[in-house]
Amino acid sequence: MTRQQIDDIETETAFSLSLQAEDEKWMQIALKSAKAASDLGEVPVGAVLVKDGNLIAAAGNQPILLHDPTAHAEIRVLRTAAQQLHNYRLPGSTLYVTLEPCLMCIGAIIHARVERLVYGATDPKTGAVCSLYPIGSDRRLNHPLIITSGILEAECSDLLRTFFQEKRAARKQQP
Ligand SMILES: [Zn+2]
Repeated sequence: MTRQQIDDIETETAFSLSLQAEDEKWMQIALKSAKAASDLGEVPVGAVLVKDGNLIAAAGNQPILLHDPTAHAEIRVLRTAAQQLHNYRLPGSTLYVTLEPCLMCIGAIIHARVERLVYGATDPKTGAVCSLYPIGSDRRLNHPLIITSGILEAECSDLLRTFFQEKRAARKQQP
């Protein structure tokens, strides 16, 4: 291996390490929104939208309190971000979400022309990116979405697991 090749590999490794650190930083903020949702009794899912290294919007899942079946964390950040940027499309943006998006949300993410989707935990029951429906790899769609999964996966799924465990325990205690 030449010196140049070694240098190239080192540069690439440093880049992917710094990208991962960046992804983890934003996912921590998405996790905070997820925790806030759980404090309100909502299923703990949180999302943030980032563009050019800036946080544009952050939101938690809130369909119950808002009486709105579409008020998933992803839809809420897309709505806020589009208002902030005065644009119904969000090219060059990255959406971070703690859980693999559902069918509705992946549709909205594609409509919004989000450039990159980063999620934490996979959702075998309703995930529509790679689990239940592999929409993320469907090449028939004209918008290529860059996808990274598994960022802070343990924290993201622990939050959901604890939430449902506590719900079940509370239900058992009821007479
Ligand atoms: Zn959704």
